[in-house]
Amino acid sequence: EYSLGPSIVDWDEQRAAWFDQNPSMRTPPDGKPRIMLVTGSQPTACENPVGDHYLLKAVKNKIDYCRLHGIKIMYNMAHMDAEMSGFWAKLPLLRKLMLSHPEVEWLWWMDSDAMFTDMLFELPIGKYRDHNLVLHGWDDLVYKKRNWIGLNTGSFLIRNNQWSLDLLDMWAPFGPRSIRQEAGKVLTAALAGRPVFEADDQSALIYLLASKKDELASKVFLENTYYLHGYWVILVDKYELMMEKYHPGLGDDRWPFVTHFVGCKPCKGNAGEYSNSRCFKEMERAFNFADNQVLERYGLQHVALSTSKVTRTRNDTDRPLDVL
Ligand code: UDP
Ligand code: MN
Repeated sequence: EYSLGPSIVDWDEQRAAWFDQNPSMRTPPDGKPRIMLVTGSQPTACENPVGDHYLLKAVKNKIDYCRLHGIKIMYNMAHMDAEMSGFWAKLPLLRKLMLSHPEVEWLWWMDSDAMFTDMLFELPIGKYRDHNLVLHGWDDLVYKKRNWIGLNTGSFLIRNNQWSLDLLDMWAPFGPRSIRQEAGKVLTAALAGRPVFEADDQSALIYLLASKKDELASKVFLENTYYLHGYWVILVDKYELMMEKYHPGLGDDRWPFVTHFVGCKPCKGNAGEYSNSRCFKEMERAFNFADNQVLERYGLQHVALSTSKVTRTRNDTDRPLDVL
């Protein structure tokens, strides 16, 4: 029987006792709950070197967002558990981080192939006061239709508490290498629209939520008022239009918070659903769309979304603080 680690049943008590011993950690300096952004990629080089270049751009993009918003960042390249490889690697990692960082209230998983495209938007974290898991998705699609894309696990928040450890324990058994093919069959049979392939973490979570709705749903917030995850195909062609009509800080269709390259496999030779050349082209555009929001402060902008080349938007002055 697979398990993520020694069973823990009193994490909330253990963590409360730790806060008692470390009272200075209880209230973060800015009064907001502590968030750690967690991401990572495979330990070895990409088959396609261009994939490594876009991994670098995607992590620069995350470092920029996290610096601007006071969020700590963790980039993992270790396989913490040989059984839980690929998209399943996030589960043992999140558990380990919860237990090693009791000071952190929320862990924010973000795939390597997702980028922040709204550098100004802030998570409405207070809205999730009574919830433990926040994903982009729709209640109706998950609980009624059991649709396999009813939610997305490429960018989600999970609270550091016992409920979440229990959820990870329920979620993990679909993932071990040895049972992944068989588990995939169960998920394809149970979920609407799911192609035949090995068990993935997203399908397993939807299956779990739909089959244990009474037990779990009240603590799960499916968000769709802004793009905590946004499907790149419906967004990337509109960046120029957005720049013409709107401004950062909106997070929704007008200026998407996150653009996620679902179905791209930038690290592999054309193994994805979309060609690597199309993925790289649009990743470049998403990166530059976001980077313009970072460079603005320094008086620079990309000449076009398709190019890394930048140009000055104002002259340097002897009164630099006046333009901040
Ligand atoms: N990942 C990881 N280590 C690995 C493989 C994947 O940390 O060895 C992460 C990486 O951030 C990736 C995410 O898991 O974006 C999802 O995995 P995968 O690439 O299989 O799915 P996709 O991002 O294409 O949906
Ligand atoms: Mn992804």
